[in-house]
Amino acid sequence: MIYLDNAATTPVHPEVLKAMLPYLDKQYGNPSGIYEFAEKSKEAIDGVREVIARSINAKPEEIYFTSGGTESDNWALTGMAEALKDKGKHIITTSVEHHAVINTCEYLRQRGFDITYLDVDGEGIINPSQLIKAIRKDTILISIMAANNETGSIQPVQLIGEIARRNNICFHTDAVQAYLHMDIDVNKMNIGMMSASAHKFRGAKGCGFLYIRNGIKPAVFMHGGKQESGIRAGTENVPGIIGMGKAVQIAMQDMDKNIVYVRNMRDYLLYRIEHEIPGVILNGPRHVRLPGNLNISFLGVEGQSLLIMLDMDGICTSSGSACTAGLGGGSHVLKALGADGDRLKGALRMTLDSYNTMEEMDYVVWRLKENVAALRGRN
Ligand SMILES: *Cc1c(COP(=O)(O)O)cnc(C)c1O
Repeated sequence: MIYLDNAATTPVHPEVLKAMLPYLDKQYGNPSGIYEFAEKSKEAIDGVREVIARSINAKPEEIYFTSGGTESDNWALTGMAEALKDKGKHIITTSVEHHAVINTCEYLRQRGFDITYLDVDGEGIINPSQLIKAIRKDTILISIMAANNETGSIQPVQLIGEIARRNNICFHTDAVQAYLHMDIDVNKMNIGMMSASAHKFRGAKGCGFLYIRNGIKPAVFMHGGKQESGIRAGTENVPGIIGMGKAVQIAMQDMDKNIVYVRNMRDYLLYRIEHEIPGVILNGPRHVRLPGNLNISFLGVEGQSLLIMLDMDGICTSSGSACTAGLGGGSHVLKALGADGDRLKGALRMTLDSYNTMEEMDYVVWRLKENVAALRGRN
């Protein structure tokens, strides 16, 4: 099997699994316990807090463990809305966010909040002057993703942070795709809150974190015990958190090397597709893009049919994001980029990671060529 759907989820790294196993077995202490056996679990997860903090230039007490990207996004948005509703009810986001953000904004809109969805250009990037124009006296939050899960488009995060800081508005970024695939410094970028998810970077599913800058106070998300400073209660997912820490360490160690390797492999795949298959369009930017992301429309072909044929060849890909696949109607992200008709229908996303190989790319190009020709011949 060739797995090219790493934006949907990644395989757990063998070293991550090894680090997790003791915490599913003999080291089962509850981090809230006060005897030594339990304190070992507490120390272990606090170690992860430090590792994560170092990776984004934050402080350990600013890292809050959650069940993943969706929860972190929900908490950031509903938590700030609840905390600041007397100050204002206006939130700025974009039309290309993940559904974890879009649907939370819709939930808030139904409860009296006013949401501005910024447009994007043909490459999926927002216009900073449009952001400045959208800011109002009652704006309480700007939530803009760092990089897009479908097209890999990277937003001008530092500039957005600067605009938010000058206007004294909290800036939340969904960095689930970006974290560990590009440099993120929450201070340099003026990020107030940041969502991340372990299963997108070789950790286990159901585990992530929300960075919350000291001084920013979203409402309590989980009522209960005193875990996570009492604002996200519940016994910690210790194995998941330990694995996440290991995954961060591994990724940080080889980040620069991996970015170059994955980008070269992706560019090779793109080059061969563009030179050997007629009628293709690259969706999203050519350069300001996550290293492992490729999103291409094969004109005159149904992306879903191509996906199924590739699946029969043992290649896992995606047409649109995993969350929209099967819903029909086409991707809201590609529509926002201006895609319609054949270009919208024929989109295929292939997302690479550092364990993929050039040999795999050669096989993928061969199968793409044959399958696209076969599907076009059928019409
Ligand atoms: C995967 C993803 C999420 C959701 O994260 P989960 O941990 O799967 O809940 C949110 N935002 C983006 C950009 C994602 O890619």
